[in-house]
Amino acid sequence: MQSTNSGYTLRCFTCKSVNDERETSTYCTKCGSVLTVDYNEVRKEIQYPIENIIPDPLKNHYTALRRLDRLSEMYGTELYAKLENENPTGCFKDRGSYIEVLKALELGVDAICLASTGNMAASVAAYARYFKIPCYVFVPEKTPQTKIAQATIYDAIIVKIKGDFRTCEELCREFAKTGNYYLAGDYVFRLEGQKSFCYELLEQGPIDYDYIFVPIGAGTNFAAIHKGFQEMIAAGHEIKMPTFVAVQPEQSSPVVEGIFKKEKIIADQVHTMADAVAVANPFDFYKVLTIYEENNSLALTASEDELLECMKEMSVEEGIFTEPACAIPLATFKNNLDTFKGKKCLLVLTGTGLKSTHIVAKYSLSSPVLSPKIERVQQYLESGFPEIQKKSWGQSRDMFMGNVNMDEEHARLYEEYVSSCNKKGKTLKQEEIKALKSLVYNEEKDLEYPVEVLDYKLTMRMHGLVSAAIKLKLPNGEEIVSLDQGVGPMDAIITAIKAETDAFIPLEVKKHEVEILSPDTDSLVIVSLTLEKEDYIFTTKAASPDTLEALIQAFVKGLAVANKALVA
Ligand SMILES: *Cc1c(COP(=O)(O)O)cnc(C)c1O
Ligand SMILES: [Zn+2]
Repeated sequence: MQSTNSGYTLRCFTCKSVNDERETSTYCTKCGSVLTVDYNEVRKEIQYPIENIIPDPLKNHYTALRRLDRLSEMYGTELYAKLENENPTGCFKDRGSYIEVLKALELGVDAICLASTGNMAASVAAYARYFKIPCYVFVPEKTPQTKIAQATIYDAIIVKIKGDFRTCEELCREFAKTGNYYLAGDYVFRLEGQKSFCYELLEQGPIDYDYIFVPIGAGTNFAAIHKGFQEMIAAGHEIKMPTFVAVQPEQSSPVVEGIFKKEKIIADQVHTMADAVAVANPFDFYKVLTIYEENNSLALTASEDELLECMKEMSVEEGIFTEPACAIPLATFKNNLDTFKGKKCLLVLTGTGLKSTHIVAKYSLSSPVLSPKIERVQQYLESGFPEIQKKSWGQSRDMFMGNVNMDEEHARLYEEYVSSCNKKGKTLKQEEIKALKSLVYNEEKDLEYPVEVLDYKLTMRMHGLVSAAIKLKLPNGEEIVSLDQGVGPMDAIITAIKAETDAFIPLEVKKHEVEILSPDTDSLVIVSLTLEKEDYIFTTKAASPDTLEALIQAFVKGLAVANKALVA
């Protein structure tokens, strides 16, 4: 794609006053509104606000434009998708980062800083590192680890902040003033970079779409694509301006709500699995609103369940695995089929699903670990579990395991767990029920317990060792109290039990993991122990709202498994 530059002015979107890019590329210094780039000339090629433009060094191919054949047939529409996940870091943000980083180079800054929900962090970090500029990224604490990891490999300095994206943005803006830093983000130069979407599209076929669906966070990409089309039309390209469809998750929709109220809404907090669009304070809201009014756009939302359903649908019908934000176009399309039937629609699929595997893991059932015996494999395949696993996607989670044929033993085990939780005054939440059922399903039945823990008492001191007194029932029926010490409560308990049991069942703890299922203090806790008896290594798990009780159960279970292996 050819690009040129004819010179430009940085103009305020609202009061139209001219701003100096050495002073600001974020807000108008006169009125505080957002800025826009006005080119001095109209040109056929894409124009960038960069003096000496060089081709994007990280990208040498266009992102694919795909006709979604199966979905088109299913819904009686011409559905197309532009696969923006094919950009260098897996997200359309690269189009903007390329220009922002070139601008930072041009301005001769010492470093770049930005706040991000994850994708922009990885993207700016990649370009900054290529051009050897240090890069600081401010991310909310809840940012998916994959996205942070991606920024880390590009040597970004990660500043993880307690708070949401908005908190990060405000803090980063303050940080930018503490040095000769370029503040990257959803600002005016990024928008210019993201226009390249339109020019690529032009080279991929006629632009004659009735509708274009754009998932919105800050609204910058929506405004960028619209500006690209506008500049192309002004330059005499034969394209039809599509009707824009601004789409957001129902649970995080300040832009859509703001459009209907005709004023900017800043949400208190936003919470959606589509983390890439979880933006409470949409920077480019007024650009989106203006486009909405002039373009006769639509503004639509979809629920979290609908996002899950559409993520799945695009994967199985078209083989396209995207992150949840990119499921919003298909979900809103399906919610308004009457409007879109028979039309030509373009879905902007903004980012890859490979960074969101945690969502897939969270909303599908994990597979049990089987002992390596063909009978066990057969039994597993016949248990109904794989079918349930397939069907479980996107359904309410307490349904999942309820449908597996749990045999009597397992059903009894499950009841025991639930009643022991209830005795402690704890009601199980959906997530906890799911985890518990899956744990029980994996349990070996007809285990004989050689040792029982009847009671325990810990004495803890701030700076000293922890002492444990454990009342045990041994295989010969004898009840004894074992006393020992450890560096913490877990260590003290295990040491005290082992003091009595090592003599007849030698068992070592190789690894222990504690999984806390909810943020509440009474959360169900799952303790997993990797245990070794001579050369035999195995894992046991137990659940309880009390971590130490789960630990004791898991270890005692380990003794039972080891004992069985010893006998066998
Ligand atoms: C950033 C992002 C969006 C939202 O784009 P805005 O320009 O903030 O409106 C949508 N999808 C993905 C995958 C993103 O990373
Ligand atoms: Zn202004």
